[in-house]
Amino acid sequence: MLNLYQKIQKIETIQAEADKATKAFKNRYGIDCLEHCAECCKYKDINATPLEFLPLAWHFYKSGQLEEVFEKISNHKEPQCVFSVFEDGKWGCKVYPTRGLICRLFGFASVEDKHGKSCFAACHSLKINCPDRIKVICEKIASGGKTPIISDFYRKLSMLDLNLGDELVPINQAIKEACEIIYMHTAYKS
Ligand code: SF4
Repeated sequence: MLNLYQKIQKIETIQAEADKATKAFKNRYGIDCLEHCAECCKYKDINATPLEFLPLAWHFYKSGQLEEVFEKISNHKEPQCVFSVFEDGKWGCKVYPTRGLICRLFGFASVEDKHGKSCFAACHSLKINCPDRIKVICEKIASGGKTPIISDFYRKLSMLDLNLGDELVPINQAIKEACEIIYMHTAYKS
């Protein structure tokens, strides 16, 4: 059985694989985020697993910010991700290097339909701003073009911890649960 630290390392490996796969997707199909967009972080219904945020919570613990962040999340009442707004009101990710798995895959990966066929899950901004390009990519993927599949990454994640990796909850709850796990683990140790 993996200990917490080994689990965090494995999660980071899956996240690095997701980064590599989405980078290859962008190069293959000639598409990328719109400049200074961050619209996807404004979504009110992002779901994630607590497991994918363990590296982030661990980072907060190591940098002495865990309790402060936990309080911030507990007081955060909006449905949007707690890390999506900067102090000057601009949208973006305040924890980009340690963001979750869904944050890495969304927009440049596919979902599988009930027949096991891959469908490109394009974001709203790209659908609006470059519909022709999105149409071409959807057609290429539908006819067998290579694409990361979101559920493949989540399957790998859940193998590390069947409870925490399978539990899809609103993103702020996932981050909060990850912080609680690290807090309980480290408080028990000291
Ligand atoms: S963790 Fe960062 S990338 Fe993920 S939803 Fe929150 S602000 Fe966006």
